Amino acid sequence: MPSIAENIAAIRERIAAAARRAGRNPDAVTLIAVSKTKPVAAIQAAAAAGIQDIGENRVQEALTKLPHSPPDLRWHLIGHLQSNKAKLAAEHFYLIHTVDSLALAQRLNRLAQERGRPQAVLLQVRLGDEATKSGLSPTDLPSAYAAARGLPHIRIQGLMTIPPFCPDPTDARPYFRQLRLLRDALLTDFPGDQLPELSMGMSHDFEVAIEEGATYIRVGTAIFGER
Ligand SMILES: *Cc1c(COP(=O)(O)O)cnc(C)c1O
Repeated sequence: MPSIAENIAAIRERIAAAARRAGRNPDAVTLIAVSKTKPVAAIQAAAAAGIQDIGENRVQEALTKLPHSPPDLRWHLIGHLQSNKAKLAAEHFYLIHTVDSLALAQRLNRLAQERGRPQAVLLQVRLGDEATKSGLSPTDLPSAYAAARGLPHIRIQGLMTIPPFCPDPTDARPYFRQLRLLRDALLTDFPGDQLPELSMGMSHDFEVAIEEGATYIRVGTAIFGER
């Protein structure tokens, strides 16, 4: 079996090739290693191979690993955030990708104010009509953004999505494109706002996501193996 370092090296080559195809700079794509269910040793191996960004989908699980992990990693929350975990998440995560309601944005804003340090977030958008998934609908996004962008203690850096699973990754392309166009529409409504980040693409479809403008890709299985 290839090592974690070998997997990361192979993914970096695929990132560079996908970026080149799209005329993008590979450095504009940040690889987040998604370590959910994997032990601290796996995080250490990834960090030794140059990974600086770690993704976890549960606050509690991240908190058990964080004290034993290299200190200079950036932790990304990529799973649904319950409001009763918001305080812990705000204390420990560099970027919360999963703000899926105005109420959660307001709560994070309050917590950031109390703490005296702004919180970076992404708004999660639900694409493909999957009622079971969390995220703002494309219809609700503009009004939620219009309200949340005025909150002084959160920094909305862009959008995140988890598209419906497509066995053929090229079938996910319309969803990735839609997320980029939704971002562009917000910038048209609010010229001068900055929404540089698009968090989209996982192990089986990150190349397509990069071709459509992903700046954060969230990769677990292709780095750490099956969960
Ligand atoms: C688990 C997870 C990933 C990583 O998925 P892989 O298919 O293992 O790369 C990415 N994003 C989110 C939101 C996840 O929960």
